[in-house]
Amino acid sequence: MYHYIYGPVVSRRLGFSLGVDLVPYKVCSFNCVYCECGKNTLLTLERKEYYPIEDILSEVRDFLSKNSAPDFLSLSGSGEPTLHSKIGYFIQAIKKEFPSIKIAVLTNGSLLCQQEVREELMDADVVLPSLDAATEKAYLQIDRPFSQLNLPEIIEGIALFTKNFKQRSKEKQVWLEIFIIDGINTDKENVLALKNAVLKIQPDRIQLNTLDRPGTEEWVKPASRETLEKVKESLGFPECEIVAKVKDPGKPGAIQDQSKEAVFNTIKRRPSTLEDLTEALGLSTHDAGKILNGLEKEDKIIAEEGARGIFYRAK
Ligand code: SF4
Repeated sequence: MYHYIYGPVVSRRLGFSLGVDLVPYKVCSFNCVYCECGKNTLLTLERKEYYPIEDILSEVRDFLSKNSAPDFLSLSGSGEPTLHSKIGYFIQAIKKEFPSIKIAVLTNGSLLCQQEVREELMDADVVLPSLDAATEKAYLQIDRPFSQLNLPEIIEGIALFTKNFKQRSKEKQVWLEIFIIDGINTDKENVLALKNAVLKIQPDRIQLNTLDRPGTEEWVKPASRETLEKVKESLGFPECEIVAKVKDPGKPGAIQDQSKEAVFNTIKRRPSTLEDLTEALGLSTHDAGKILNGLEKEDKIIAEEGARGIFYRAK
C-alpha cells in the first residue's frame, strides 16, 4: 500500500496524473472555505521535511516500475506542497530519473513570495498557482490565510515567479486558477482587482473554477455558468477557460491495482463520485459500486449529496 502517492486520477486540468502528497493531510498556509479536504489540521508557514523525501521517491519509483507512465506527476494532494522543504530536491530527482514525465505543482501561491521557493519550482513543467481574490476583504473571506501572509506580496511573488519561470524555457507554463464564489469575488470591484493582478502576473492561462465537491463550509455553493461567463468576459484575458470536468482519459487499465485499496486511497484524498472513481481508476461501474458498498458496510466511508451527485468521503 502506498502512503504518499495516489491515483492515477483524472483531474480536470491535467488529464491522467499520478498524485503525490508531500505534506500530511491539510497542512496548509490557507484554510479556504471551499477546501474539499475539510477543516485544517495545521495552519502554518513552516517549511520542513514533513515526510521523508527518500520514502516518497521510493514509492514513485516503485509505482513507475509496475505501471505505465501517467501524463503528469502532480504535487498537490491534501495540503500545500511548497511547505515541504525538499520539494526542489524531489523535482530534480524525478527529472533526472524519469526525464519524460512532466511535473505539475498545484499551489496556493502564498509561498511564492519567498525567493527560495520560487527557485525550487524552476524545474517543474507546469505550475498552477491559485489566486482567488485581489482585494483584502475577499482574500480573507475566501482563503482565511496564515496571519503573517500579505496579499500584495503574494501577487508580487506569483508575478515574479511567472516571469522567471517562463524565461527558463518556452515550454514552461503557468496556469492561474481563480475559484469563483458568487457574491464574494464576483462584484465589479473584485473582478477589476483580479483583472489588474492578472495583467501583472501574465500567466499562460487562467482557469475559472467553482465548487463541484462538498467544501469545508456549507454556505459555499457552486457559481452558475452565467456568473462564470460574466467573470470571464470581464477579465478579458485571451486564454481564459471555465474548467469543465474531464471525460474519458483514454487510458483504461493503466493502473494495475484496480482494487478496494486504490478506491479507498483515492477517496481518502478527495471526496469522489462513482463516476470519478470509474474514470480515475479504470474500473467498471459495477466493480466500483461493489467496492463502495463494501467500504460503506465496513463503516470506512460515508455518502453525501454534492453538486454533481453522491460523493463518497472517508470517515
Ligand atoms: S484548497 Fe488548497 S490552499 Fe486552500 S486550504 Fe485546501 S489545501 Fe489549502
